[in-house]
Amino acid sequence: MLKSSNLGYPRIGANREWKKTLEAYWAGKLDESQLISQLENIRLDHLKLQQEKGIDLIPVNDFSFYDHILDTSAMFGLVPERFSYTGGVVPFSTYYAMARGDKGAAACEMTKWFNTNYHYIVPELNGAAPTLTENRPLKAYQEAKEKLGIEGKPVLVGLYTFLKLSKGYEPDQIDDKIEQFLPIYTQIVQELAQAGVQWVQIDEPILVTSITKADLERIRRIYTALNEAAPALNIMLQTYFEAVDHYEDIISLPVQGLGLDLVHGLEQNLQSIKKFGFPEGKTLGAGLIDGRNIWRSSLESPLQLLKELSEFVTYDQILVQPSCSLLHVPVSTKPETALDPVLKEALAYADEKLDEIVLLVAATSGQEGVDEKLSHSRKAVEALNASQSRNRVEVREAAANRDSQPSTRKNVFAKRQVSQQEKWQLPFLPTTTIGSFPQSPEIRKARQSFRKGDWSNEQYEIFIEDQIQIWIKLQEEIGIDVLVHGEFERTDMVEFFGEKLNGFAFTLNGWVQSYGSRCVKPPVIYGDVEFIAPMTVKESVYAQSLTDKPVKGMLTGPLTILNWSFVRDDLPRNEVAFQIALALREEVEALEKAGIEMIQVDEPALREGLPLKKEKWDSYLEDSILAFRLSTSTVKDTTQIHTHMCYCEFHEMIDAIRALDADVISIETSRSHGELIHTFEESTYELGIGLGVYDIHSPRVPAVEEMVSMIDRALQVLDPALFWINPDCGLKTRGIEETVASLKHMVQATEIAREAR
Ligand code: GLN
Ligand code: ZN
Repeated sequence: MLKSSNLGYPRIGANREWKKTLEAYWAGKLDESQLISQLENIRLDHLKLQQEKGIDLIPVNDFSFYDHILDTSAMFGLVPERFSYTGGVVPFSTYYAMARGDKGAAACEMTKWFNTNYHYIVPELNGAAPTLTENRPLKAYQEAKEKLGIEGKPVLVGLYTFLKLSKGYEPDQIDDKIEQFLPIYTQIVQELAQAGVQWVQIDEPILVTSITKADLERIRRIYTALNEAAPALNIMLQTYFEAVDHYEDIISLPVQGLGLDLVHGLEQNLQSIKKFGFPEGKTLGAGLIDGRNIWRSSLESPLQLLKELSEFVTYDQILVQPSCSLLHVPVSTKPETALDPVLKEALAYADEKLDEIVLLVAATSGQEGVDEKLSHSRKAVEALNASQSRNRVEVREAAANRDSQPSTRKNVFAKRQVSQQEKWQLPFLPTTTIGSFPQSPEIRKARQSFRKGDWSNEQYEIFIEDQIQIWIKLQEEIGIDVLVHGEFERTDMVEFFGEKLNGFAFTLNGWVQSYGSRCVKPPVIYGDVEFIAPMTVKESVYAQSLTDKPVKGMLTGPLTILNWSFVRDDLPRNEVAFQIALALREEVEALEKAGIEMIQVDEPALREGLPLKKEKWDSYLEDSILAFRLSTSTVKDTTQIHTHMCYCEFHEMIDAIRALDADVISIETSRSHGELIHTFEESTYELGIGLGVYDIHSPRVPAVEEMVSMIDRALQVLDPALFWINPDCGLKTRGIEETVASLKHMVQATEIAREAR
């Protein structure tokens, strides 16, 4: 008999009550004991729900007070010195100070969890040696058992993954670090075994990245030690997000189970199983249900896959589970009352995915009533596939014929540059901004009034025009050369376009945790993406009518729209990217036709779509470059295409960025200035480029001299004739006063740099 398992349940709660609790505590509206008890209620509710659904192996310790990596650091007493921690269980105030910063002490760095949009707090290992301040997995196990009678499966971040995600040590110290941490991990598993835990899930997603033989040896050392320390405990070595390389080594590790992603790493993982088999007596955690997406499974392919697997593993050695923790999907589709019923029926959030898992188990044992449920699933998926929204023939054909669509500018950059300079007559070191200006409370209130219907269309448009007018005037006064309209009409750079294109839907409750209490509600790309009517022309044209200086049009690029949405899974992702690209091309052409002849196509999320495995980078980048170029290549030579990226490890991407063939790129720099300068010492970049001269993440107004010195350093490695001056990123989160002051300093710094030449 198969069993069902889960790897992690979303913590945010069906109505984001987790988020609200945290924020109420931070605001001083709840005291610590209220925080603890409210979070306990949420945690136990989630366990009960999984129990009621009939999940056999329910994860515990997947819950968190902020982030599970931060929990792990706290469990090991890894608190950076600046938080004046004196040992023992880390107090809440210290824990949250690490996450969010505190008077005087900067927050710990936060970064993306593999290729997801979840962000974890980066552990810092340069302080005191780790100790076990409390055995959190054990506590979670005991709680579930005592309060709900659940025989939970504690989840623990694997030692190797933990070390690889940490900072504060040199790569050649890794073996010392293992020696430091191994006794702690050993103690944890021993205590779990003593408490009667049957399965522990140890997450080692690092195994799906490109790892070396030396890494593998270390991993063997770790798991041999853990197994010897707690031979009675079953260790499920859990991987996800991709296939494991070195499968044959990994299955021979002394652990009792191996969890594989059979959605995102299906092809390679399945091939490996077929080639090397699966060891008798071990358990396979079969990640059959997509934990990264919101689509219902027709269940036909996972059932077929289970059959295939049964040639190598007997059913009683298989756990049916999601491909990864359900942390990455919203909670329940029940509240989605506003969606088209065909679309709603084709969705599965966390709760529905658990139902699918239970159903898969039931189906393999031929339980009654199963056929009906299976056919319901199949029909729901078929209905969406058959809908008009997924059958826009022209869109499909255009994307399929992408190779015959124009994707090269008429002339090379060197030639365009001459025509552009002639047309625009920009000064040496032209100044510009990235697009958005402060979204004051007034602006947010206006948008709400409009959305609620309290304001008429006309009223709202007038308001937006007023804002544009104010900021065009301000930009002129400050002395900026290339102006923007300010993006006041946009809450979000993806949602804005999604609402105006065919093929997108917006959910009521599709929230997922992004970091800490911050949740995002990504748009859903469910159908073929099609341009309907110009989306940005009105505001840009209005802004241009107010000034003689050029106004840049402002679009979000195809990869950013793709990477920040939930994307349909019946088409390859690149196909969807090409559809978006072609829709955006129509917008680019509409802007040009309306006289907007500088157009910025932002791609801040281009980098985050990079596959986990390096060998897949080239094809992703090739498709990304093509998508960008499909959007931007049909314009005149004199039309200047800009792009913008946030911090993006330029050195790994410089060839791809060059291949975008954008006339100008503006790029976030402040947080990585030295590194970027170094990149340009080694390789040349021969298109227009602006390295952000000040950090927009802080309200601080940087001094003129600071910016002058940033400009000077950049000009030592970049061609001054191609250099632009701009801030790091959009200014929508900043206050008006500090923005104006900073931009004035930026223009003054530019003048100083110009005179020095
Ligand atoms: N044009 C956008 C803005 O200025 C770019 C935002 C981004 O890079 N994330 O807000
Ligand atoms: Zn940016």
